[in-house]
Amino acid sequence: MAPVKVTKICCIGAGYVGGPTCAVIALKCPHITVTIVDLNQARVDAWNSPDFALPIYEPGLVDVVRQARGRNLFFSTNVDKAIEEADLIFVSVNTPTKKSGVGAGFAADLNYVELATRRIATVASSSKIVVEKSTVPCRTAESMRTILEANSKPGCRFDILSNPEFLAEGTAISDLFKPDRVLIGSLQTQEGKDACESLKQVYANWVPEDRILTVGLWSSELSKLAANAMLAQRISSINALSAICEATGANIDEVAHAIGYDSRIGPKFLKASVGFGGSCFQKDILNLVYLSESLHLPEVAAYWRQVVEMNEHQKRRFSKRVVDTLFNTITGKRIAVLGFAFKADTGDTRESAAITLIKDFQSEKALVNVYDPQVSEEQIWLDLQEASPLVPLDAIKKQVTVSKSALEACKNAEAVVIATEWKEFKEIDWEAVYAGMNKPAFVFDGRLIIDAEKLRKIGFTVTTIGRPSAI
Ligand code: NAD
Repeated sequence: MAPVKVTKICCIGAGYVGGPTCAVIALKCPHITVTIVDLNQARVDAWNSPDFALPIYEPGLVDVVRQARGRNLFFSTNVDKAIEEADLIFVSVNTPTKKSGVGAGFAADLNYVELATRRIATVASSSKIVVEKSTVPCRTAESMRTILEANSKPGCRFDILSNPEFLAEGTAISDLFKPDRVLIGSLQTQEGKDACESLKQVYANWVPEDRILTVGLWSSELSKLAANAMLAQRISSINALSAICEATGANIDEVAHAIGYDSRIGPKFLKASVGFGGSCFQKDILNLVYLSESLHLPEVAAYWRQVVEMNEHQKRRFSKRVVDTLFNTITGKRIAVLGFAFKADTGDTRESAAITLIKDFQSEKALVNVYDPQVSEEQIWLDLQEASPLVPLDAIKKQVTVSKSALEACKNAEAVVIATEWKEFKEIDWEAVYAGMNKPAFVFDGRLIIDAEKLRKIGFTVTTIGRPSAI
């Protein structure tokens, strides 16, 4: 069998990965019909909205969808039709950390992957290439293959590929336009190599050949977990050093700058912060921890677990620093939290450090004003309720207020806490913020984005990550 020329793609899952990834494929491959399907009607309606009020915020995404939607890009809830018509199917469903049962708190919940795979097997009446886009534990493709083969119709064959996604939220479109690499894993059989070639030809429409890496299936699956684990490890390493800086008088920015000059280390991703968030880093490391334990490698598991523990410690340390600095009590004090998304340029709040900080402030009986330029008020209540399931929402609303602007959030506050590195927080009129705050007025920069000296001249007491409080 020679490689199939792909003309119809189905993507199961219209989320942060499936939506942007397949929208870009549609844009770059006008000869391929791309249908992105999801069970969530509201999400699909938002993708189809006439005014492009898309369900996720990503710079440049609206432009991509505007150009391709209705031409060769479609969003639908008709999963079966899209499966049946496609010759290549991406499985891009969520793989969250399991909440209960065996491996709870560590293992990936593969329920959505399994259901999507079963649907493909049940519906397909012709051969398909099935591509794991979701981040999954090593050897998941084997389970998918077993499910597909056990349930397929006569004459249907399924070739499975792994094609993990490396985009970062906030820069998804530029990452997809110019990826560092596209990774495709396949079985090293003739059929596997042919399927790999079919997918490679899709990406070759815009990605240079030397950026398309082809490897074995299990290497591809593990590489995605490994990449996220190593990125998170780098953040935990610089954050661990930031604690030493705060205690010694060293400056974390200077330390990062100095070590980044070493070409073996490099300058990127060395920014100390209040801790990483997002749906992937923690989940994927825990997944690696679980995998290591299942393989009877407890020391390896302990090594990776420490990266997550360090991150948790960094968030708690920051909350404690706020309380300590505000004379050891924040009861009844108003704190403005600027930013609720887990990073700038996204509306995604999954595992956001802001949620932990606000929960800590609530438990100290502070009053919190929160503002984020992209996160809806509804989302903020959902997240805060999920973080404190035993506290009635009415009680949460008595302590927390969602503000419409940064200036409004800071009014009558004792302290401003920067939780997300939104550009607009760098450009706030700090003189006006100071005028509206109670005195003494404190700023806590959890993202190292403000000019601390400038703020001190205005009158603020400024605390930043990785520098002693007194400076
Ligand atoms: P998401 O929750 O935003 O989207 C997943 C979508 O799949 C949801 O809309 C859900 O309704 C849909 N879905 C689930 N089961 C379905 C089914 N059987 N049929 C149809 N639709 C179904 O998740 P995401 O952030 O897009 O992540 C998807 C995968 O990509 C995860 O494995 C994640 O780890 C991985 N990943 C995420 C990122 C990121 O930055 N978010 C980056 C790289 C990889």
